[in-house]
Amino acid sequence: MVRILPRENEAKLEGRLLELGSVGLTPSGLWRAPFTPGYERAVTLVSGWMRDAGLDVRRDTVGNLIGRAGGREQGPDGGRVVAVGSHLDTVRDAGRYDGALGVLGGLLAVSHLVETKGPPARPIEVIAFTGEESSRFPVSFLGSRWMTGSIEPGEFAAVDDQGMSLGEAMADSGFEPPVVDGADGAGGAPRAGTSRGSSDLDAYLELHIEQGPVLEDSGRSIGVVSSIVGQCEAAVTVRGRAGHAGTVPMRMRRDALVAAVQLIGAMNRETARFRDTTVFTVGKLAVRPGSSNVIPGEVSFTVDLRDPGRDDLVRAYRCLRNMVEATSSADGIEVAWQDLFWSDPVPCDSGLAALLARSARAVGEDPLTLPSGAGHDAQILAGVTRVGMVFVPSAGGRSHCPEEYTTSHHCYLGAAVLAEALRELAY
Ligand SMILES: [Zn+2]
Repeated sequence: MVRILPRENEAKLEGRLLELGSVGLTPSGLWRAPFTPGYERAVTLVSGWMRDAGLDVRRDTVGNLIGRAGGREQGPDGGRVVAVGSHLDTVRDAGRYDGALGVLGGLLAVSHLVETKGPPARPIEVIAFTGEESSRFPVSFLGSRWMTGSIEPGEFAAVDDQGMSLGEAMADSGFEPPVVDGADGAGGAPRAGTSRGSSDLDAYLELHIEQGPVLEDSGRSIGVVSSIVGQCEAAVTVRGRAGHAGTVPMRMRRDALVAAVQLIGAMNRETARFRDTTVFTVGKLAVRPGSSNVIPGEVSFTVDLRDPGRDDLVRAYRCLRNMVEATSSADGIEVAWQDLFWSDPVPCDSGLAALLARSARAVGEDPLTLPSGAGHDAQILAGVTRVGMVFVPSAGGRSHCPEEYTTSHHCYLGAAVLAEALRELAY
């Protein structure tokens, strides 16, 4: 078996991941939030590696970093870009691999192809999207949504914990915040950003750590993503009656917390009866008035429900919502469900999935096909072009924490799969 990307690249990729992982360290851990000096230092470092590989480097309006290897073919079809990438921003107290691996693995694959085979027939772009995580501003997928023209007016006014708006932070980092007045003239919902579409992009590939335990558990080294999960977010409020913790007999209480805990337990058991890929999480719970000697009068909690299939997601949503609404009439407890966010599952392109599976076999790996339980820039790009994603195992399934780890060999194998696939798509 001869791999396009030789094994020597494993040490190079590991070295770069470690070097990039030391950029953006804060007193509590790694945090590269967009439009901060740490983030800009990371961009400078990666831009340098892009230039070393002979790529033309540019930033766009919101700070996406793009390294381009121009194509030899002319004409409309020859000009369509094969893009590969991920993001350089991180969550708070992050690990070194989420996002960084996709950018550096993609760059390494492209560098090696250009070095050994010359310029591609079709242009290839290595893209480091900005603001994929919503770790500073309550805006996620900033870079990919900007590139595909789906930013909504008002999003640049979103503020961080310090009260600084996204627009102000951009100006602070030397970017001119775009004026988004909401008038797109098309009659639909106003949107902003560039509008790279299918006439410009031929495909988008993203290598990413799995961020869950499934791949490691399967014993395989490469995952090919079938779809990215759909997600429902909701807020549930349980209202009972606050009272004195010492004077109200148990039989006369309307304890909102007891009702909420029973409800969450029931929702959890119900979700476990659905298929394996349906997941339900209550990650936030607030008890009011929140005093040790007061019976809780009101409890609110969040619901995060995900599934890679739309029908299954809708079925689970209806079931849980019905459970909540049925609780409303019980024992003087009132329960309200409020929808906050909905995204449909995004299928990856079946042709690209087949190409990635072939590419995995070409590097000697039998891939596992699996859905992604986390969101990625690829799901945004899927709105304008075909997308394919490669996963490598996360040790212990850990991610979004300093313990996040993927072996150097798995990182290398992921980049090697990209190299095989990019050769087929762009050469
Ligand atoms: Zn990520």
